[in-house]
Amino acid sequence: MSQKALTAIHASPPAHWVGDGFLVQPLFASLAFGQEVSPFLMLDYAAPHQFKPSAKPPGVGAHPHRGFETVTIVYEGEVEHRDSAGNAGKIGPGDVQWMTAGSGVLHEEFHSRDHAARGGSVSMAQLWVNLPASDKKVAPRYQTVLAGTIPTLEIADGKGALRVVAGTYGEAKGPAKTFTSLNVWDVTLQAGAALDLAITPGDNVLVALLSGKVAVGADKASGTGLLTFSTAGDSIALRAEADTKLLVLSGRPLAEPIAHYGPFVMNSEAEIREAIDDFRRGKMGRLEEFA
Ligand code: MN
Repeated sequence: MSQKALTAIHASPPAHWVGDGFLVQPLFASLAFGQEVSPFLMLDYAAPHQFKPSAKPPGVGAHPHRGFETVTIVYEGEVEHRDSAGNAGKIGPGDVQWMTAGSGVLHEEFHSRDHAARGGSVSMAQLWVNLPASDKKVAPRYQTVLAGTIPTLEIADGKGALRVVAGTYGEAKGPAKTFTSLNVWDVTLQAGAALDLAITPGDNVLVALLSGKVAVGADKASGTGLLTFSTAGDSIALRAEADTKLLVLSGRPLAEPIAHYGPFVMNSEAEIREAIDDFRRGKMGRLEEFA
């Protein structure tokens, strides 16, 4: 194996609120929606945040999406979702919701009613995964990926664990169905763990540092941030210098033009205008369906 070189450590932009429920850092920073992160689009990470008990669950009300997938990973707390295609679900720590917006849905994302009533910590990540042009208008789909169905592998000589949410790791296969070849690995490392990961040649790879401290050679990153690597090479090597949480994302780049506006991600400006028009005409579902 030849090691990929670290090309940059991207500092996390300041956190901002999504609705009143999620205080997130956009970890892809200036790379979001660019070819370097394809087939992924952006990653919002909400570090643990304490919420007071509330009769009204915090979150984000009905809004549309078209042309990509939203992947929600819950670390702490409980998130409840409902969409105009008739899907609904509640996910807790370790669970993942993989929603294919495809041709278009309206959905809402809140803390669960029970969790809001109790109050407490909420931490989650939301990853946006692009769809290839040929699948941008597929029928919406909703996959609830419960923690118990996600293969968890021992790595780094027993000093770490890797959960295969999507794609593969060795012989293990992640439960989430995807439209293109990609891997989502949820990784925890103990201080002192040394990790070598094989990466398919030609794939983009991104290491999102959620907490802790990692070193790649002489370079170090701590807190939250995004590590990017050279195209050449077929492995990455990390060392944890504290207890660390990572999301390792890799996949075949789509190499297609990207046009994005708010909640829509298409291939051209004309398709964005069509998405806005279809949303206004109620073709992605209607607000009344949430009444
Ligand atoms: Mn959404």
